[in-house]
Amino acid sequence: MRTRYRSTRGTELVSFEEALLRGLATDGGLFVPDAIPRIDFSAIFPASDDFSELGLETLRSWVGAEMPSDVLTSIVRDALSFPVPLVPLAGNTWKDVFVLELFHGPTLSFKDFGARTMARWMDYFLEVRDECVTVLVATSGDTGSAVADGYAGRARIDVVLLYPGGGVSPVQERQLIVRREGVRALAVAGDFDDCQRLVKEAFMEGRPARRRLSSANSINVGRLLPQMLYYVWAVRLLGRDDVLFCVPSGNLGNLTGGVMAHLSGLPVQGFLAAHNANDFFPRFLAGGDDSFAPTVRTLSNAMDVGAPSNFERMRVLLEPHQMRRLIQGARVTDDETLESMRRVHDETGYVADPHTAVGLEAVRRARAGGQAGGPVVVLSTAHPAKFPETVAEALGQKPEVPEGLAALWNRDVDVERIEPRMDALRERMLQTA
Ligand SMILES: *Cc1c(COP(=O)(O)O)cnc(C)c1O
Repeated sequence: MRTRYRSTRGTELVSFEEALLRGLATDGGLFVPDAIPRIDFSAIFPASDDFSELGLETLRSWVGAEMPSDVLTSIVRDALSFPVPLVPLAGNTWKDVFVLELFHGPTLSFKDFGARTMARWMDYFLEVRDECVTVLVATSGDTGSAVADGYAGRARIDVVLLYPGGGVSPVQERQLIVRREGVRALAVAGDFDDCQRLVKEAFMEGRPARRRLSSANSINVGRLLPQMLYYVWAVRLLGRDDVLFCVPSGNLGNLTGGVMAHLSGLPVQGFLAAHNANDFFPRFLAGGDDSFAPTVRTLSNAMDVGAPSNFERMRVLLEPHQMRRLIQGARVTDDETLESMRRVHDETGYVADPHTAVGLEAVRRARAGGQAGGPVVVLSTAHPAKFPETVAEALGQKPEVPEGLAALWNRDVDVERIEPRMDALRERMLQTA
C-alpha cells in the first residue's frame, strides 16, 4: 500500500516523491499524510533492538513503496549511523527521567536526522528523474549547518546558504562556513528576516538557469518522517507504553514527528511541549488563543519562533480537544533556563544545553505539580558545546568540546559577504548553476 500526501489546505493527492521535491503544496499549504499508515509496533519490537532496523520497519509504510527496499535500507543505515543514547538522570528528584541525546550527529543537533535522510532521498529521486536542484536555505543556526553537512557532496544537489552575518554565534558561524563540496555560504549584511525575504524572492523569480529550486526547512514532510524514529527507539528501549515525551519546541516539527509516530500506533502517555518566551503554543493549549506573536530573542535561540509553521499540520492531524488531551504546554523564561542548567548540574552532574534545559524545567514543574509521575523522556536537541557562552554563564565552566567540533577550527572556510539585495543573490546563484 502507498501512503499519499495532501496539502493542509486542499485535497490534491501526491506521492511521497512529489511532496519531498516540492516542499510546499501549490496552494501554499504543507503536505500531510492523507491517511496515517498503521504500524504494529508490538510485532516489530521483539524482533529488533537496532536503531536503523526499527527505523526501516517504521519508514517502510510511509515511503517504502516508492523506492526499492535495498535503497531505503542503505539510505537509512548511511544517514542515521550515529549513536542515540538514552541517559538516565541520577538522584531522587529525577527518578525515571531520561535524556534522549539527539546530538551525536555531525553538526551536534537533532536536525541531522532530518537533513541527512532527506538529502539522500532527494538525491535518489533526482537520479531516477535525471534532474538537479539548488537547495536554498535561510538559517539563523542549526538548520543551516545540518543541511550544509547533510547535503554536501550529493551529485545532483547544490546548496546556497544565507545567514545573517554577525547574527549567529562564533561556533554556529564556523559550522556554517567550513568549505564543503557543493555548498556556498553567503553572509548577508542584514538580519534573519532579510535572509528569509531573499529566499522568498528567489522562489518567486523562479529557477536560476536550468535548475529547479528547492527548500530544506521543516515545512518539508521529508524532514518530519526521520524525526519519528527516535520516539520509537526510546519506547523500545524502555519497554513501556506510558512514556511522557518532553520536546523543547519552536517550529513544532520535532513534536509533529512524535505525534505522527503515535497516530501510527506507537503507545505513549503524551507529550509536553516546552517553549521559551515564544509561547504561542502553550497559550493555545491553555486557553484557545490562536493569535501568533512577534518573535522574541532568547538564550534558546533555535526555538525563537513566534508563528510555528507546523501548527498548521498539527491542526489537521488532531482536533483541538485531542491535541489538548495528548499535549501539555509549558513556557520557560531565560532566567529559569539558566537556573535549570545550574539545578540539573548540581543535582545530577548533567550538563544540558539551553534548549534541553527548557525541557528539563518543564518536567521539574510538571512533577512538582503532581503530574508526570511515570517515565519521562526529555529530547535533548543540541550538544552543550554549541552554546559555550551560555553554559559558562550558568555553570561557571565551559562545556567539553567534542573532537569533531574542535577540528572545525583547522579546516578551510569559504564564505562570501553580500548585500541584502536580490541582484547580489541572483549573481551568486547563476555562478553555482
Ligand atoms: C530546531 C531546534 C529546536 C526546535 O525544533 P522544532 O522542530 O522547530 O520545534 C529545538 N532545539 C534545537 C537545538 C534546535 O536546533
